[in-house]
Amino acid sequence: MEQTDDLAIGLDIGGTKILTALVSKNGEILSKLQCDSKGGKENLGELIINTIKALIHEANVEITRIKGIGIATAGVIDSKKKEIIFASNLDIANFPIGPILENELDLPVELYNDGNAAAVGEWMWGRGKGKKNLIYITVSTGIGAGIISNDRLITGITDSAGEFGHISINIDGPLCSCGNKGCLENYASGTAISKIAHERIENGSVSEFFPPESKITSVDICNAAKMGDPFSIELLDEVGEYLGIGIINLIHLFNTEAVILGGGVMNGADFLLPAIKRTVQKHGIASIVDKVNIEISQLEKYACVVGATGLFFKNSNKNAALPI
Ligand SMILES: [Zn+2]
Repeated sequence: MEQTDDLAIGLDIGGTKILTALVSKNGEILSKLQCDSKGGKENLGELIINTIKALIHEANVEITRIKGIGIATAGVIDSKKKEIIFASNLDIANFPIGPILENELDLPVELYNDGNAAAVGEWMWGRGKGKKNLIYITVSTGIGAGIISNDRLITGITDSAGEFGHISINIDGPLCSCGNKGCLENYASGTAISKIAHERIENGSVSEFFPPESKITSVDICNAAKMGDPFSIELLDEVGEYLGIGIINLIHLFNTEAVILGGGVMNGADFLLPAIKRTVQKHGIASIVDKVNIEISQLEKYACVVGATGLFFKNSNKNAALPI
């Protein structure tokens, strides 16, 4: 490999983990490091700085090759001030992550929405390579999306486009954390799967995997489904239907050619994907949905870090041949 290529650091700040990677302009990951973000609220800046320093040390590359840092995070961001305004999964507000890292590491920093970064990652170097229209959906603690339309990332005026989890699919549904009712996130996120499973067991549903009073996560449900648990298989099938209803809306709106699904809940893809495809086929407009490939992410948990560096390279070099 050419040893003089420019590199950038990608950083994905999630509710449970911080993932960072050193990435080349070709989307190749040279080294990567992950640490726990739980309980790191007070020292989050220090934790991130130490993780990045460890990554640089481990990579053992010429330091001048590293041109900057692209950060992907959930929550509401101010990309100009490079500040996380509010992120419920991290329990932080008004966190100036960009200036903190710029001061400490002496590298330029850019801040992006995680759904957008992941969409760019898949589009440039993953499942969506060569496609002009795609939608990336992450199903994790929450639900988000990034939309590429005619070779452009749709950001909206405040980088908040793609809040797919807060599309209401039932106006009489439960109150969502956003203030709306019946948002998709209340039916199909990892958080929702855990909540629904607990409610059903409390109300008398039976699973040999989950005795009464047991603590159930969406990971547990996916694992139990793989081991043949009818309770978990049925629940994931329902979740897939809800996701399918939401996805039909996106397909009808954007006339996309690919829907790429990622996020931890996709660990249950064997059960979710058939239900999603069935629902889209059943309820979508045939001439539009028939053209759409619905697939699982290729970059998986690295979609955000890789995509954040892709966006960084594009933004730091206006002459770069990246079609955003
Ligand atoms: Zn909502």
